[in-house]
Amino acid sequence: MSFDVIKGQQRIKERLGSMLTGDLPQSFLITGDKGCGKHLLAEELAGGILCESPTKNGRCGKCPCCIYFDAGTNPDIKRIEADKDRKNIRVEDLRREIISDIMIAPHVSHAKVYIINSDKLNIEGQNLLLKSLEEPVKGVYFILLSSEENILPTVMSRVVPVKMGNYSADDIIEILKEKGGKDLSDGRAAFLAEFSSGIPGKALELQNDSEFVEIRDEMIKILLDMPHLDLTDIMYDRYPVFEKNKDSIKEMLLLLLWTLGDLAALYSAKTPDQLENVKLKNADMKGLLVDFCRRHRNITLKNIGMAADAVTEFSRGLTVNVSFESACCSMLLKIHKEFAG
Ligand SMILES: [Zn+2]
Repeated sequence: MSFDVIKGQQRIKERLGSMLTGDLPQSFLITGDKGCGKHLLAEELAGGILCESPTKNGRCGKCPCCIYFDAGTNPDIKRIEADKDRKNIRVEDLRREIISDIMIAPHVSHAKVYIINSDKLNIEGQNLLLKSLEEPVKGVYFILLSSEENILPTVMSRVVPVKMGNYSADDIIEILKEKGGKDLSDGRAAFLAEFSSGIPGKALELQNDSEFVEIRDEMIKILLDMPHLDLTDIMYDRYPVFEKNKDSIKEMLLLLLWTLGDLAALYSAKTPDQLENVKLKNADMKGLLVDFCRRHRNITLKNIGMAADAVTEFSRGLTVNVSFESACCSMLLKIHKEFAG
């Protein structure tokens, strides 16, 4: 085990690997969106710092420190979090768990590492840490994690910043399949990778979110059923789906736009070969979408464009104070007009 457990992020792994085997700074700040894997990276970095013979690829996996690490019991890694019911880490906890603890020698390793969730660190807490970051005690390392821009400039200037980037779709697909998604189809994995904008934590969350799966199915169904619906169906059967899931309206509209984009791509294909090779955002729904496209040859690219305009218009209307119900129904009726002719 080593940095290999982290998919992608090649540049960061190489940089940290050369620090572990060369000049090792004592304070790091790992930043990146929520769900991008900061904790995993921090743990591996901590393991590498404590390891007796780290390589460019991280910890060795064989020394006593690594064996403790793999068992999840290396006592020289301390993780500082806020209590569940608190917004911030309490200053007295920081004093006890870090400031008074720093001078105590490590238990099994040659060093100690403090991993601190800095999203939970208020200004007072950050100020308390300043001195320890500025004049670090020998053998004491800090790894701060942050997904918000809440770090004081004085703290920033004392840490080595490590900014995690987004992941490629292939990385996310690999992560999803590894984390219990054995039955996950390539198409579905590709969709989740795309919808999570390269953030593995978000992709994993969506994968297990039955509500999201349901909403997505509904959005695709609403569009594909449009040619057969009448006005009563729209107002009394389909509109309520939007009303019920109002909190997820942004996701719903994005899903509508994605599906319309996929339909536009399919309707643009001129030959069966082209149709076969069209890459869709809803890659796992290709069969259904192709089938729709074959059955409704009367729909044109212009119709699809107008339907997408209706969605965008509703989306824009949400920011001003319009009635949700009338704006949503108006969008649905416009799409209906384009699809049902
Ligand atoms: Zn080791």
